Amino acid sequence: MGGVIAVLGRQGAGKGTQCAMLAERFDTVVHVSTGDMLRDAAALDTPLGRRAGAIMAAGELVPDDVMCDVVAERLAALEDSGATVLLDGFPRTPAQAEALAGMTASGGLRGAVLLEVCVAEVSERMLARGRGDDTAAGIARRLELYEAQTAPLVEWFADRGLLQTVDGTGEPAEVFDRLAAAIGGLVPLRLSR
Ligand code: ADP
Repeated sequence: MGGVIAVLGRQGAGKGTQCAMLAERFDTVVHVSTGDMLRDAAALDTPLGRRAGAIMAAGELVPDDVMCDVVAERLAALEDSGATVLLDGFPRTPAQAEALAGMTASGGLRGAVLLEVCVAEVSERMLARGRGDDTAAGIARRLELYEAQTAPLVEWFADRGLLQTVDGTGEPAEVFDRLAAAIGGLVPLRLSR
């Protein structure tokens, strides 16, 4: 594997959109979104999906052990591909960060990029997006959990010399250029044909 880069940031900061654009533009960049994996599992009504569906609808977090298994399995499947993985939505808790460090113990964790957008703006964006879990109550709960569980990871990555912060406001194309520059400083990027 070409390495793992964790993409951090509040719900609605644009992680999913930007990671999908980066994976499209650059060869060997793969987007792994835990939210998408869980929504796919729920749509397919798999055991994971049945377990996660109600938790997601309530804006709560799926248990760490479940998420760590899901991510470890996906990273293992990509191990031999040479891909650079943009990990979107994981880690979200200190326990998940420790687990990720274990999964990438051989130096695979290249860094973390924090996509920074303020609470007022992400709330507005999510209400406009209107995904199933984007109700006023669901948004408030997810943002509360972000501050409590996920925001401490910013320091966790910074303490390890792994953090870069990117301004997530402005035109999507501008944000894309900033992110590509940050990621390009961590791994070689090659344009897709
Ligand atoms: P958002 O960040 O806007 O909440 P995501 O698509 O990243 O959207 O996640 C949707 C839901 O999936 C979360 O609210 C949570 O219930 C679940 N989820 C995703 N990733 C994780 C994770 N790493 N740990 C626990 N739950 C997760």
